Amino acid sequence: MKKILVTGAAGFLGSHLCDRFIQEGYYVIAMDNLITGRMENIQHLFKLPNFEFYDHDVTNFIHIPGDLDYILHFASPASPIDYLKIPIQTLKVSSLGTHNCLGLAKAKNARILVASTSEIYGDPQVHPQNEEYWGNVNPIGPRGVYDEAKRFQEALTMAYHTYHKVETRIVRIFNTYGPRMRLNDGRALPAFIGQALRGEDITVFGDGSQTRSFCYVDDLVEGIYRLLMSDHAQPINIGNPDEISIKEFAEEIIQLTNTKQQVVLRELPIDDPKQRQPDISRAKEILNWSPKVSRREGLARTYEYFKQLSQEELHKKDHNDFSNYKR
Ligand code: UDP
Repeated sequence: MKKILVTGAAGFLGSHLCDRFIQEGYYVIAMDNLITGRMENIQHLFKLPNFEFYDHDVTNFIHIPGDLDYILHFASPASPIDYLKIPIQTLKVSSLGTHNCLGLAKAKNARILVASTSEIYGDPQVHPQNEEYWGNVNPIGPRGVYDEAKRFQEALTMAYHTYHKVETRIVRIFNTYGPRMRLNDGRALPAFIGQALRGEDITVFGDGSQTRSFCYVDDLVEGIYRLLMSDHAQPINIGNPDEISIKEFAEEIIQLTNTKQQVVLRELPIDDPKQRQPDISRAKEILNWSPKVSRREGLARTYEYFKQLSQEELHKKDHNDFSNYKR
């Protein structure tokens, strides 16, 4: 049985990846320090004989006994409000944490895939963004802690690839959504659905003309699976090119939830990218991958998940307490 380590396993993407590799018949070692991850996301896997969980912070040395075939490094806060609350941890997890994961890959002769992001393109001056574009990032802005750590992660990963001959893969993930997103993580989709379910106004930042392109999680997981199994070490964009303005997106959520909420405009956060759309030609050509789930279908599935949350969960203002966290 092939063995895979998933870091950030209790998070939104990490937990879906655990599910996928369990389905594929792997032995899955899930790792998370539960700062932004939630045990509920992986609870259903604990009864399985081919699943185990380590409560561990990957910025510290990672010890895994025995053989290891694959590593998926998905540990990181991924929402702008989290980066503001835990900026140093955000920097550490994609720098020191990536270094530990790459060292582990080298020691075990394992193939490693790291989660990069469309944020490495910053507020892009090229549209849509292809992998050749170097980006437009403010290193010291509020998003800099995430963006620069992810850029450093790519540099470190390529260095391990060229210098140590480690088998590395880099996925640049564009906005992704689906069940298990954290209701109050500040991202547009859970924010809007949460507001609709609580009967609050829908807060659109700026004038809502900024665009994003939203990919359903199952499509993303398929792309990552194909990339891991490929022999392509260069970065690959995975995302859905179906671009929409945030204002229109808010209106779609109002329709979906069948509520009478109003859109209210709020101040645009600093360095909020004005537009974002993946060029997925490389993924199409090399992985024979393209997204299959329409926004209509994906949003309906996601809404089903959020509707089932308890009233208590729905009204909790802050899901994560970072106050005891060591920096
Ligand atoms: N956004 C918004 N209202 C909210 C939360 C987010 O208008 O309550 C906007 C945000 O300013 C950004 C877009 O929605 O332009 C997507 O934000 P998200 O945090 O989901 O992802 P990112 O900015 O990292 O792409």
